[in-house]
Amino acid sequence: MQRNKHGDPARRGFLKFAATVPGIAAALPFLLRAGEAVAQKMSKKAAKYQPNPKDGQRCDNCQFWIPPEGDGPGGCKVVEGEIAPEAWCVLYAPKG
Ligand code: SF4
Repeated sequence: MQRNKHGDPARRGFLKFAATVPGIAAALPFLLRAGEAVAQKMSKKAAKYQPNPKDGQRCDNCQFWIPPEGDGPGGCKVVEGEIAPEAWCVLYAPKG
């Protein structure tokens, strides 16, 4: 596949998606390094993580939610550490 100066199609797609989601747009400086997307998770503090839902928004209905396996804790694709299903952060994006 031919690439141009903007990188591969997956990266362009991610950047286009990210620009449409306010929380992700705010997180872009943390996610981009050396001109390529890096799957680097944000700290809870930087994401303003809170253990409670906000206006009906909660982690287990966010597209970045990683359900627990068995009795283990839940996780998140973009925020580090254990994530409670009823929690919330500024990167919240509803499931499509
Ligand atoms: S609300 Fe924040 S911490 Fe929770 S799943 Fe979504 S991005 Fe992760």
